[in-house]
Amino acid sequence: MKTTIVKAFGTKAADKPLIQMDIERRDTTAKDVEIEILYCGVCHSDLHTARNDWGGTKYPAVPGHEIVGKVTKVGSEVTKLKVGDLAGVGCIVDSCRECNSCEHDLEQYCQNGMTGTYNGKDKHLGGHTFGGYSEKVVVDEHYVLKVPSNLNLAAVAPLLCAGITTWSPLRHWKVGKGSKVAVVGLGGLGHMAIKLAKGLGAEVTLFSRTPDKKQDGLDLGANEVIISTDAEQMKSVRGKFDLIIDTVPYIHDINPYVSTLSINGTIVLVGYLGGLEPFLNTVPLILGRKSVAGSVIGGIAETQEMLDFCGEHNIVSEIEIINMQDINEAYERMLKSDVRYRFVIDMASLKK
Ligand code: NAP
Ligand code: ZN
Ligand code: ZN
Repeated sequence: MKTTIVKAFGTKAADKPLIQMDIERRDTTAKDVEIEILYCGVCHSDLHTARNDWGGTKYPAVPGHEIVGKVTKVGSEVTKLKVGDLAGVGCIVDSCRECNSCEHDLEQYCQNGMTGTYNGKDKHLGGHTFGGYSEKVVVDEHYVLKVPSNLNLAAVAPLLCAGITTWSPLRHWKVGKGSKVAVVGLGGLGHMAIKLAKGLGAEVTLFSRTPDKKQDGLDLGANEVIISTDAEQMKSVRGKFDLIIDTVPYIHDINPYVSTLSINGTIVLVGYLGGLEPFLNTVPLILGRKSVAGSVIGGIAETQEMLDFCGEHNIVSEIEIINMQDINEAYERMLKSDVRYRFVIDMASLKK
């Protein structure tokens, strides 16, 4: 298969910084769209993958799955987009398209394994996929999103992961006018969860460990902010929420949040992957018919629905634009929760 060499930023090992490197992109096949990447958001999953926090990272690793850009080439059978269109690519670049999940627009739960935008199995070139910290990407049109033209393009990029990851549970648990929703952690996912829940008409509460994020939480649309380390404040919202979206990336005690669920309420974990400690107390679950759930990103149709909703409601991410060369420092700041509220890489910096 014919390929082109493009510039990218990635890392060769878990304990090494990201550096500039060359990667290969396939030439467009009949169904492919080639996109010149203009902006790429920086998700905490990029950091987890670069540093092999979850195990299984293949190196060199080129992260990035919040991609927006311009279509530069399309294959002969492509109908969804044309050269010059704005386009987005999120966390999925392929799936089996045959299993029950794929047939129901739930590619993220493909029973034969979806192909991640990075660190996935590359069905075309062999090896593994490389993400959006690069000049170009080539993706089958089914997995390419249309981007509303009325929004700030750089601030749209984070919708492709942080947006859809919080939108999907809001939709699945049927959040709407009058719903009481809480969000744990004010980072990339958390701030999008507030904006999207608010956009759907919910009453929104933010749980944060960081007192100086309180005003930001309110400015983003939260009706109240609860400092999660303050026992009195936690007590004031016992039994309140229909849905809690917990975005915390590291192991933490979820029992205090379960207490704040209403009867039939659900806490959905989207951040931390792994065993919980201390143990989850089942008493409030049983006596309150409460649920603890998980959720991963969202399907392609649902991602398009979210982008269209954001276009209609003028919702974008709060961003700090960085150069590609600043990525290692950005990761360190992300580890200190010092991002307000998403870094977005200006990909023009890679070409310098
Ligand atoms: P982020 O921007 O770093 O935000 C995480 C927030 O969690 C922080 O701002 C902080 O908020 C809080 N936090 C951080 N460390 C904490 C700790 N040790 N204990 C308690 N709270 C802590 O990260 P993100 O990009 O939003 O991603 C969040 C997590 O979701 C990551 O693990 C990421 O891999 C995962 N993720 C999952 C999916 C999915 O499909 N399920 C998709 C994308 C990302 P406060 O300062 O307000 O407390
Ligand atoms: Zn992500
Ligand atoms: Zn499938």
